[in-house]
Amino acid sequence: MTGPLQPPRAIDESDALEVFHRAYGGEPDGVWWAPGRVNIIGEHTDYNGGFVLPIALPIGTVAAVRRREDRSLRVRSANVKGRKGSRKIDLTTVHPGSDLGWAAYVAGVGWAAAERGLPVQGLDIALRSNVPSGSGLSSSAALSCVTAKAWADLQGWSLDDPTIAALGRDAENEIAGAPTGVMDQLASVCGRAGHAMQIDTRSVDVAQIPFALGTFGLSLLVIDSRAPHSLVDGEYAERRQSCEEAALRLAVKELRDVPVEALDTTLTKLPELLARRARHVITDSHRVELVAEMLRSGDDPRRIGTLLNDSHTSMRDDFEITVPAVDTIQEAAIAAGAHGARMTGGGFGGCVIALVEQDAAGPIATACAAAATRAGHAEPVAFTAKPADGARRLSL
Ligand code: ADP
Ligand code: MG
Repeated sequence: MTGPLQPPRAIDESDALEVFHRAYGGEPDGVWWAPGRVNIIGEHTDYNGGFVLPIALPIGTVAAVRRREDRSLRVRSANVKGRKGSRKIDLTTVHPGSDLGWAAYVAGVGWAAAERGLPVQGLDIALRSNVPSGSGLSSSAALSCVTAKAWADLQGWSLDDPTIAALGRDAENEIAGAPTGVMDQLASVCGRAGHAMQIDTRSVDVAQIPFALGTFGLSLLVIDSRAPHSLVDGEYAERRQSCEEAALRLAVKELRDVPVEALDTTLTKLPELLARRARHVITDSHRVELVAEMLRSGDDPRRIGTLLNDSHTSMRDDFEITVPAVDTIQEAAIAAGAHGARMTGGGFGGCVIALVEQDAAGPIATACAAAATRAGHAEPVAFTAKPADGARRLSL
C-alpha cells in the first residue's frame, strides 16, 4: 500500500560508485551531482528572451568519473537497461547529427567544449538518476550538467556557471537534437537551497530569491501526470516559429521587447493565432516579474496562487500546450484547496505544480489521482519538493 505522496527513491554517491565499480573496476577521480528542476512560472519564455523562475530539485543525477589518457568516452547509465546502457564513443567523431541515443547528452558536452577551444580528454563515466525521464523535470539537464561540471573540474577548465550551463544546452541542442532554451541547465547549475532563481534569459542574469515555503506552512506539490508525451518535438518547433514570426511582424528582436502595457492594442497587428501565442509569452514573462517581486518583498506566498492559475489558463487557451490529463489534475488541485496550480515544463504532458498548505499535500494528491483516473487518464504520481542546491562535486 503506497500513500498519496511517492517521492523518488533517494540516491547518493554510493549509487554512482556501485555502478562505476561494476562497469569499469578501480576507483573514479571523483563523484559529481546535478539536479533536475521545476519551473515555478514563465513557460516558453526562455527562447523569447523573457523571464523564468525555476528551482533546482532535491532529485538529480549522480556520476562517478575517471580521466582517461585517450580521447574515448565510456558511459554507463544504470537507468538504461541492457546493452544500450553502455556506450563507448570516440570523441573525435562526435558532430551534429551523430546518432548517439541518450549518450548524446554526455558526449555532446565534450563536443561543445571542443567548439570553444577547450582541451577535451576522454572520461569513464558511471551514473544513475532519480529524476523521472521525460516528465518535464529535466532529467536531460541533470545529465548534461553533471557531465559538464565533472569534465570542467577534471580538466581544470575555469568556466563560470552560465558557461557550464551553456555547454549542457549546446549538447542538448546540437548533439541530442533537443531544441531547449537555457533555463533547464541554468537551474541545474545555479540552484540554491531555499531559493528560486529569477533568470533573465537575455542577459543570463540569475537572481536568487528566498523561496522557503515551509516557513509559511506551505508546500510545493509536484504531480507527474505520466501522460504519454507525443507530438512534443513538432509542436515545440511550431511554437518557436510562431513566436519568431510574431516578433518579426511586431518589428521587435524578440517578444521580450513587446511592452505588456496596452498589449491588446499591440496584438491587433497580428493574426488571431499569432496574437494568442504572443500574448501567452508576453504575459507569462510579466507574471514572472510580478511573482518575483512578491517573493522578494517577503509577501505571503499564498498570494502568488492566482498568478499560477492565470499562467495555466494562458498555456491552455493561448499557447495550447496542455493536454486533458494535465488540465484535469490542475483543476482537481484547485478544487481540493490548492492556492494555485499550473502545468510546468514544455507541455504536452509532464507535471503540474500546486501551492498547498503543508498538511493538505496528501489529500490534494489523492484528489488529483482520483480525478485523473476517473477521467480515464494514467494514475499520477505526486511528491513535495523543496528548492535544493545546484550541480557540484560530492567527493574525492
Ligand atoms: P526531461 O528532461 O523532461 O526528463 P527530455 O526528453 O528532455 O525529458 O530528456 C529525457 C532524455 O534524457 C531521455 O530520453 C534520455 O535520452 C536522457 N536521459 C536523462 N537522464 C538519463 C539517464 N540517467 N540515463 C540515460 N539517459 C538519460
Ligand atoms: Mg529535458
